[in-house]
Amino acid sequence: MTAHETDKYVYDFAEGNKDLKDLLGGKGANLAEMTNLGLPVPPGFTITTGACQAYLATGREPDGLAGQIEAHLEALERAMGRRLGDPHDPLLVSVRSGARFSMPGMMETVLNVGLNDRSVVGLSNQAGRNDRFAWDSYRRLIQMFGKTVCEVPGEEFEHALDEAKRVKGTHDDLDLDADDLRGLVETYKKIFAKHTGREFPQEPREQLDLAIRAVFESWNAERAILYRRQERIPADLGTAVNVVAMVFGNLGPDSGTGVAFTRDPGSGAQGIYGDYLANAQGEDVVAGIRNTVPLQELERLDKTSYDQLLDIMARLEGHYQDLCDIEFTIERGKLWMLQTRVGKRTAAAAFVIAGQLVDEGLIDLDEALHRVNGAQLAQLMFPRFQLDHGIEAVATGIGASPGAASGAVVFTSARAVELAAEGKAVILVRRETNPDDLNGMIAAQGILTSRGGKTSHAAVVARGMGKTCVSGADEIEVNVPAKRFTVGGHTVAEGDVVSIDGTTGKVYLGEVPVTPSEVVQYFEGTLDPERTDDALVRAVHRIMTHADTRRRLAVRTNADTGADAARARRFGAEGIGLCRTEHMFLGDRRELVERLILAATDADRTDALAALLPLQRQDFVEIFREMAGLPVTVRLIDPPLHEFLPPLEQLAVNVAVAQERGEDVAKEEALLAAVRRMHEENPMLGLRGVRLGLVIPGLFAMQVRAIAEAAVAVTRDGGTACPEIMVPLVGAVQELETVRAEAEKIIAEVVGDSGVEVLIGTMIEVPRAALTAGQIAEAAQFFSFGTNDLTQMGWGFSRDDVEGAFFWRYLELGIFGISPFESIDRDGVGRLIRIAAEEGRAARPGLKLGVCGEHGGDPDSVHFFHEVGLDYVSCSPFRVPVARLEAGRAAIETTGSDSR
Ligand code: PEP
Ligand code: MG
Repeated sequence: MTAHETDKYVYDFAEGNKDLKDLLGGKGANLAEMTNLGLPVPPGFTITTGACQAYLATGREPDGLAGQIEAHLEALERAMGRRLGDPHDPLLVSVRSGARFSMPGMMETVLNVGLNDRSVVGLSNQAGRNDRFAWDSYRRLIQMFGKTVCEVPGEEFEHALDEAKRVKGTHDDLDLDADDLRGLVETYKKIFAKHTGREFPQEPREQLDLAIRAVFESWNAERAILYRRQERIPADLGTAVNVVAMVFGNLGPDSGTGVAFTRDPGSGAQGIYGDYLANAQGEDVVAGIRNTVPLQELERLDKTSYDQLLDIMARLEGHYQDLCDIEFTIERGKLWMLQTRVGKRTAAAAFVIAGQLVDEGLIDLDEALHRVNGAQLAQLMFPRFQLDHGIEAVATGIGASPGAASGAVVFTSARAVELAAEGKAVILVRRETNPDDLNGMIAAQGILTSRGGKTSHAAVVARGMGKTCVSGADEIEVNVPAKRFTVGGHTVAEGDVVSIDGTTGKVYLGEVPVTPSEVVQYFEGTLDPERTDDALVRAVHRIMTHADTRRRLAVRTNADTGADAARARRFGAEGIGLCRTEHMFLGDRRELVERLILAATDADRTDALAALLPLQRQDFVEIFREMAGLPVTVRLIDPPLHEFLPPLEQLAVNVAVAQERGEDVAKEEALLAAVRRMHEENPMLGLRGVRLGLVIPGLFAMQVRAIAEAAVAVTRDGGTACPEIMVPLVGAVQELETVRAEAEKIIAEVVGDSGVEVLIGTMIEVPRAALTAGQIAEAAQFFSFGTNDLTQMGWGFSRDDVEGAFFWRYLELGIFGISPFESIDRDGVGRLIRIAAEEGRAARPGLKLGVCGEHGGDPDSVHFFHEVGLDYVSCSPFRVPVARLEAGRAAIETTGSDSR
């Protein structure tokens, strides 16, 4: 880029396009795109994200910016034939933020910039001596400017407005006349002066510059930072600023403003969807100040504009090949487009719309797969309320974000955060939410508001977070100071439990029973995708089937029981990647384990192992049968043995009490001594894994024998078993060689000529194993990465101790963007995996590689495992569909899709 290009900070709408989002932000890039499509967009210009970044880095506007704004403003004035804030015939502008990623409610908008004590008269004249309109516009400017540019508390303006309505004896803003509004402007100015120590700025250009600066600074407002962290949006992008000639939706009954979606963003159903508010400015709709009417009403009010709007929406969908949301204003019967973007949608709508667009020939199946993701699929697998629960709803609002949520009612964000920290499920109830409620919305299970449509702040933010939300339940009277709401004769106080259904919009008192989602029923095989008319199930089926044809990674499951194995198979698992054998030593087998641990002689130990052998064998028979011919990786026992004994403190107390009573405590004393000897503190890096196998004679041998005998038994019964024996916690090849030599002898003896083949491999979960993988591969027929331990040991923190203790601080400081136990740390732990994969395969070409830590079901990590060339991921049964989907997406993202 040349120095000249680098210094260009301002773009006219005619200069940009939709692909310049990094530079112009989403709003600016799409305004430019619509301008170039010839749609009716008011003229304007965009100040780049680069200007914002420069401002944030140095604390002042970059050189050249002021001059460029001046030049573009002059061009705008020429185009409009009016000068900014001209006392006789003023041009007014809006100043609107617009970052690369949409951040609803985070950044600020100031409308009507250019109004002052003199131009308010000019504006009235321009509007045909409409004083009411002019003073209403002026009071809005002071209110928005005061609140967003100068941090005057917004409630003060709202109280003053409420007071003016009270004096007038009305609830409706529209009943306030020009004189009332002129009076309100005086009151607002006093509020402004009281909080800022200065008069409201009368100079139009100063208003504009201060508003632009405020947008830059709002990038670093606390709630913007919080939202970015929640949504994992990088902190250094900055926001663009759009300066747009004002058009007015508050000029009378033939004016208005609205928001719309080209399809239902909740269900994905075809057909336009939106809210309209006559005689109002844009923020009234989004803030839910007055209840809107459905967009279809506009057909009755202004058929010409309605038809034109529908036309434009169809054009935008075809152009963007996706659901679009738009904001528009009608000024005296003339339609203006103020915004469009590819619209946010619920998880269900994402699948349904992707399927529809394939049917409509707009996109191909690869693109459909690309447009959905594992997090959305996981959300669709949550349970919902039972249909026949028989509980009467007390109110019905708008199903703004789906899901089923029950919890204790709270009325403030702060209380939501407090109770959630105590582990309570809460429902945040508000008349309407605003960006200050973000903390509470994050903490709550669900959000219930009495005002606002599907495009209100509550609805948009909840959908973005995947949180259940019912908005606009206007039968509910919310009384925040009294901490209660009333509905149909019931009073619900803070702490009372309510349930909300984000799909139907119904609100219930008390807790409502839940049922599995249709998507889970489909995976379970109880809902046939070919026969249902459920559009979501059909879309999920179609996209999952495509993902399966595209993915290179196999997906296995972590399962220790026949029941888990069976469920995982229904969910599409292609084998077991980790069967932990430790649970098989619990329950009524504990006594045998105690005998094994306390064995004083070889004979005692051999007896205990002999008693355990048939039980273990039966466990494996069940699992091999369920997995019928699919590979089953059985891990030899891993945890330290004290985990199988009673807790130290409890035992010590029992022994002391028994001694006091003079009872015979020889056995308990022996047990206590053994527990003392074996006790380990977290992170339990002592006598566990392969180390146990090397010091307790016969333990691993018993397990190997049980596995081999079970495989032979299943095969003799006509089945197929493909066992893979996995040794945990190996750090040196010699450990594996020793275990393998003994195991191979047993296997040869048991298997004989049955045709059963047993592989022997190792976990790679100790950093030393990753670094010496070339040596270890000589002795291993497969590797499975234990990313839980590899993360724990790679970072040097014990997994049970850290998440509550200090991870919040690390996330706050950005040391990591997400817990490394949740999503693989590509740079560190990921590097260990890369080294091990490369060196392992160099030593043993074709070495089978998999992963069985929790990361195997995490969407982002699945992409990483695809990239480093693993053969499979293994995860808990419920995450198997998510891993299948993401493995498919990873494959098309590497190879590229025809349609992109
Ligand atoms: C691992 O460490 O990633 C693993 C799968 O083993 P466990 O969680 O049982 O230690
Ligand atoms: Mg482990």
